Amino acid sequence: MSSLGLKRLTSKIEGFQQQQFLLKTVRAGLIPDLSTWFIDGCFPVLLQERSLLLRKWYDLMIQNKDDLAKIITAESGKPLKEAQGEILYSALFLEWFSEEARRIYGDIIYTSAKDKRGLVLKQPVGVAAIITPWNFPSAMITRKVGAALAAGCTVVVKPAEDTPYSALALAQLANQAGIPAGVYNVIPCSRNKAKEVGEVLCTDPLVSKISFTGSTATGKILLHHAANSVKRVSMELGGLAPFIVFDSANVDQAVAGAMASKFRNAGQTCVCSNRFLVQRGIHDSFVTKFAEAMKKSLRVGNGFEEGTTQGPLINEKAVEKVEKQVNDAVAKGATVVTGGKRHQSGGNFFEPTLLSNVTRDMLCITEETFGPLAPVIKFDKEEEAVAIANAAEVGLAGYFYSQDPAQIWRVAEQLEVGMVGVNEGLISSVECPFGGVKQSGLGREGSKYGIDEYLEVKYVCYGGL
Ligand code: ADP
Repeated sequence: MSSLGLKRLTSKIEGFQQQQFLLKTVRAGLIPDLSTWFIDGCFPVLLQERSLLLRKWYDLMIQNKDDLAKIITAESGKPLKEAQGEILYSALFLEWFSEEARRIYGDIIYTSAKDKRGLVLKQPVGVAAIITPWNFPSAMITRKVGAALAAGCTVVVKPAEDTPYSALALAQLANQAGIPAGVYNVIPCSRNKAKEVGEVLCTDPLVSKISFTGSTATGKILLHHAANSVKRVSMELGGLAPFIVFDSANVDQAVAGAMASKFRNAGQTCVCSNRFLVQRGIHDSFVTKFAEAMKKSLRVGNGFEEGTTQGPLINEKAVEKVEKQVNDAVAKGATVVTGGKRHQSGGNFFEPTLLSNVTRDMLCITEETFGPLAPVIKFDKEEEAVAIANAAEVGLAGYFYSQDPAQIWRVAEQLEVGMVGVNEGLISSVECPFGGVKQSGLGREGSKYGIDEYLEVKYVCYGGL
């Protein structure tokens, strides 16, 4: 950590006064080379430079990957192995967008008027305010910032109060990569200042774009802020992912997928399975094998210890939420198959928990858990499972296991979500579009679509031909 000079960085940037100062510099146009960075992609040299800078940033992340992973584990509790995985995933967004930077194309359009041509230019939207959560302290930043910088935008990042260090470490590396000062700005703040800082960032006239990942409730507040000056927005909000196992599924594959999609980051990801729907014929075998796999392969403990697969939850509030959902389910008739209470280690640790005999009225089915709790509902018919899956205001990820090709097409098309895992529990990759429908958000990140969120389409009617 010391090699990244984190102490120096944090003491420099902490405090609201400093945040105000940073914003003033942005307002005063002190972002160096702002005009250069705002020029669209028709200057090949500048474009290549942007691409190379992102690539250098990626290289530095890889060179410092061990330190960066330790920072994630220290600030979030995530097991070190998962933190190492996050750093690779995070760095890959910089690499991906260093390549995408060179593929920002316009169009030439022929209309019925002989003396005119339509040109479509793609131009950077401008300064982007980026507000990120604690569950992926590094990757949620690069997924947005990689796209923004590739498009030619500058960014002001407000990381989550629980995990500011990864954002600051990225700043240090951006600096080393030669990314001009003022292009990647970080404004950490405490929870009680988040509202105030968020409001300034999301209403400042110089900011053209807001990109947020976090809860649906906070997303709605930011959408209100954006409305006044009609800013562009990308929102990656909460989920309530269904995980459906049909009778035709390979039960071992389904259990492996359930383990991966439920227990990554101790259940604290927005694409974690939240509701397990299992068809009657396969139900008992799935529940038995799922419980065995949980007991055999999950180990709760300190994220720095070898063999730990489940770290603590992020804070006491998160533990209370899981506890409340378990108690509510048990009071309404659910059966605890394994786990069910706070872990004996104390602190913010919770036992990986499997519940059966779950019904649709229980809190664990109606609200996002963000913890290591897997509730199982038994169903009879495909239509019933799809109806339960779609009975949610949100729609981020959905998973199902089936070996029936016709059923696979039907269900993949019918699920009201932005991302579907078919016989697969881990779906995120930098090459594929990440995002949700309904109240899970607006826009897509990663993939060839991610850069569009930071580009304006300008139509030029070229007449007099
Ligand atoms: P969680 O409850 O899991 O922390 P949030 O959606 O509240 O999820 O937090 C995600 C990010 O949004 C964090 O960076 C947090 O500081 C920020 N945030 C929370 N409330 C506000 C707000 N009113 N305005 C701006 N940012 C906020």
